[in-house]
Amino acid sequence: MNKPLSVDANGKLRIPSVEELGFDPQALRRKYDAERDRRVRPEGAAQYHDIEDDLAHGNDDPHVSERIVREPVHETVEVAILGGGFGGMLMAARLQEAGIRDFRVIERAGDFGGTWYWNRYPGAQCDVESYIYLPLLEETGYMPKEKYSFQPEILEHARRIGQHYDLYPRSYFQTQVREQRWDDDAAEWVITTDRDDVIRARHVVVSSGSLNRPKLPGLPGLNTFKGHVFHTSRWDYDYTGGNPLGGLDKLSDKRVGIIGTGATGIQCIPHLGKAAQHLYVFQRTPSSIDLRRNSPTDPDWWRSQKPGWQKERNDNFTKLLVGVPVEEDLVNDGWTEIFKSLGQLQDSTGAIDLNDEELKLLGEIVDFQHDERIRARVEAEVKDPDTAEKLKHWYRPWCKRPCFNDEYLPTFNRDNVTLVDTSDFGGVERVTEKGVVVGGVEYELDCLIFATGFEVSRATYTRQADLEIIGRDGVKLGDHWAQGMRTYQGLMAHGFPNCYHMGFTQTGYTPNFTYMLNNQSLHLAAMLADAQARGILALEPTQQAEADWLALVTAPNAMTEYLANCTPGYYNAEGNAKANNDGFLQGHYPEGGLAFYEMLDAWRASGDYEGLAIRR
Ligand code: NDP
Repeated sequence: MNKPLSVDANGKLRIPSVEELGFDPQALRRKYDAERDRRVRPEGAAQYHDIEDDLAHGNDDPHVSERIVREPVHETVEVAILGGGFGGMLMAARLQEAGIRDFRVIERAGDFGGTWYWNRYPGAQCDVESYIYLPLLEETGYMPKEKYSFQPEILEHARRIGQHYDLYPRSYFQTQVREQRWDDDAAEWVITTDRDDVIRARHVVVSSGSLNRPKLPGLPGLNTFKGHVFHTSRWDYDYTGGNPLGGLDKLSDKRVGIIGTGATGIQCIPHLGKAAQHLYVFQRTPSSIDLRRNSPTDPDWWRSQKPGWQKERNDNFTKLLVGVPVEEDLVNDGWTEIFKSLGQLQDSTGAIDLNDEELKLLGEIVDFQHDERIRARVEAEVKDPDTAEKLKHWYRPWCKRPCFNDEYLPTFNRDNVTLVDTSDFGGVERVTEKGVVVGGVEYELDCLIFATGFEVSRATYTRQADLEIIGRDGVKLGDHWAQGMRTYQGLMAHGFPNCYHMGFTQTGYTPNFTYMLNNQSLHLAAMLADAQARGILALEPTQQAEADWLALVTAPNAMTEYLANCTPGYYNAEGNAKANNDGFLQGHYPEGGLAFYEMLDAWRASGDYEGLAIRR
């Protein structure tokens, strides 16, 4: 299985036989297609509802005990940063390093941390290595406890950054920006909030998060349910007992149902299985679950790292993702294994030039090998063959977020845990007073938990951020992007001067979100410092530059084809990858994350602000 490919005497790729591979690629392809087809729902993303539509208080902050009382502020700053997650914090840190100290961070939550503030469900853990995921480790001198950090440590690190960079006195928490409106005469944004603040800012950086707005599956009857309900990103520990590390002691007499088995579901299900009287896991599509292989940090290894190591390690990880050769795989985990296998197999063919078709086939076989290994794990871990069969995924690795967990699969060996496969019915069908219905069977529950993810559509960006951005000539960003996001370099939009967006906004993709946010903050901080030094009042992409960028990032490519063949999910716009380019893995810089940031560095170094109109 390890070396299935070879080259014949004429240098042509020889496709191995079914016996050599240990599986039949054609049969697998048919199986994947069939599994995708039965999951596609005609409503696509419209099957989901905003959490507030179905649960009146479902989006409230469960983590604040007291509302901060303060007077409204009226002030003018150089930069306003909307969002106090890692993106906003990195922006603040990098601005200070670039010499800009006149900024404010405005955050809806009660503290820094963003996604790690909200997502405190039991078992919450970052599945990207802590040494590359936790930002500013060298600057703050912090050594993560383990290779993969759990949520409490990550939230604590966010607070550490807040203290280290003295961000607390310059931040407004529990404050929701309602509107930012461009004042063209003053060349400033006017920001208003739910605290009646009026904050004027030359520049605004929006870092509102890519996965911030919880969504529900739009189930009829939810409002009739008499039991307890919440979304995983608003975990109710008053009800369950315990904390993010587990110990949900109040569930011992409760029948609990959880809908969703994505990256979130698979982390909290082991804790629910341990604690609940009975747990029903309502699964529509299984995740692929590889080993976690967590380990404590070796202090000697840690001390041996040379300055600049974190960037080097991050670059190494990102290079592997895009197939740039590296001497050593520094992170060496489940992610890099997925990236590396194609390169290794290509090498094993004798480094011949493969045409596009051969490369596609090679990629598919490598993916099938990976998937077969994951499916074999399910059989080895789950005792009941019928349950094991239902837990096997039938789609390629980048169709859904790859997951890593050592406790998830064995949870299904517990007598008090039942897997309910909803895939024949398009998911859970409806909710009653007593519980949920699947295939005409009612499952009675005391508590229903939605691990159903977040709204992902760039067309509804401002709605997700719960904020209206009104640019030059009174144009709303929501209207400008009604047919889909349009940006220049993924960071700015025509008609919206001095407004910058951080995140997956037509930028360069990497699974390590903080790599992206760090590079974006470094770029923006250097650019704003330069603009300030040159006396520039406003920067705005030209219409042409925006149109050219849009054409570049939305041109169909190999990834469009790949995603179109995937089972539906938010990576492929719920099965509509070809129709609207709105999937999470779509609309990015075609050459990948590494090349994107190199391009930005070169663009900045040239000093001529190509593509931007400048007002002095
Ligand atoms: P996802 O969107 O990935 O998963 C939602 C789940 O709900 C899916 O299993 C989906 O099934 C299921 N679902 C939706 N509607 C229904 C229905 N009607 N009936 C039954 N099931 C339904 O959300 P997550 O919160 O799991 O993850 C979101 C993202 O958050 C991740 O992809 C990742 O980027 C991030 N994350 C990162 C972590 C990290 O370690 N860094 C940890 C956790 C999350 P289906 O697949 O069939 O649509």
